Amino acid sequence: MNVIESIEASKGETLFSFEILPPLKGMSIESLYGAIDPLMEFNPSFINVTYHREEYVYKKMSDGLLKKISTRKRPGTVGICAAIKNKYKVEAVPHLTCGGFTQEETEDALIDLNFLGIDNVLALRGDAIKSEPNFVPDEGGHKHATELVAQIVRMNKGHYLSDELDNAAPTNFCIGVAGYPEKHYESMSMNTDLKYLKQKIDAGAEYIVTQMFFDNKKFFDFQDRCRKMGIKVPIIPGLKPVTIEKHISFLPKTFKVDFPEEFATELEKCKTKEQIRKVGIEWCINQSKELKAAGVPSLHYYTMSQSATTREIISEVF
Ligand code: FAD
Repeated sequence: MNVIESIEASKGETLFSFEILPPLKGMSIESLYGAIDPLMEFNPSFINVTYHREEYVYKKMSDGLLKKISTRKRPGTVGICAAIKNKYKVEAVPHLTCGGFTQEETEDALIDLNFLGIDNVLALRGDAIKSEPNFVPDEGGHKHATELVAQIVRMNKGHYLSDELDNAAPTNFCIGVAGYPEKHYESMSMNTDLKYLKQKIDAGAEYIVTQMFFDNKKFFDFQDRCRKMGIKVPIIPGLKPVTIEKHISFLPKTFKVDFPEEFATELEKCKTKEQIRKVGIEWCINQSKELKAAGVPSLHYYTMSQSATTREIISEVF
């Protein structure tokens, strides 16, 4: 069952799903299984696997000069998705970005996924390369996720890039896209951002997964505004617990999200690592319970491949 089929089959019961990152290049897939195994008893409906584009590193050469090298630190998204389906018999959702791909390469990646029996994809634009200030599409690549959605929809109808292909086999991808309860950082206003979100849905995306947020009110407002604009697809909230001190500055800075005052005040009172972890987990449990009571389609956790905290949270929620 793809993501939409799972949501429909649940008949209004909130599902559990989570996201993992491919391990750093050179690490074995066993490390990832170690993060997935403890969550399997909670029957995840689908597991998302992030995609990490190339970045530049500088290597000092024997002549003292620096050589700029393009490398991908976390390859393996497609292989991991196939391994998840094979080992756990759970739906895998690979993330696919515009950045780092020409349209030809996108088409080939989708053919690989299709041949592996992977029928889900989360279509994203991707961020700028780490050392660069702005997102720049590859030559012949897509500028926005909407264009990627449109390409996948065309393939689902059997239309590949080459006009010469007659009777090409249609793919069958269930397409998700990203949404931002606190607005995407490049958008000049929430309305503008929602207008482009609607374009992604109108292009054929079937559901939305949100950026992490710590204030449920922002999620509910976002959901209301989506509905008022005519966005009718399921909206899946993404959740990330604060568990270490570093998260307190890292998460707002990296994901452009705010902590509500009440949460920030509780965190400020913490004197030890254990207290931060306790406050962060409790906050996420309360967020999860309220969202579940409101009937969200799935609670989707950004595990960052650390399953112990996710396990602690969902055992209180499900
Ligand atoms: P878009 O929908 O293309 O939007 C990007 C910006 O452009 C927005 O400000 C939007 O309002 C604007 N916009 C959209 N369409 C148009 C248009 N036609 N004209 C003008 N402006 C437009 N990144 C990764 O690299 N790998 C991952 O695995 C990954 N997983 C993610 C999972 C989730 C659930 C989320 C929320 C984000 C994820 N990201 C990932 C990050 C994501 O790639 C970035 O947030 C990126 O900056 C935007 O991606 P998008 O798909 O939302 O882009």
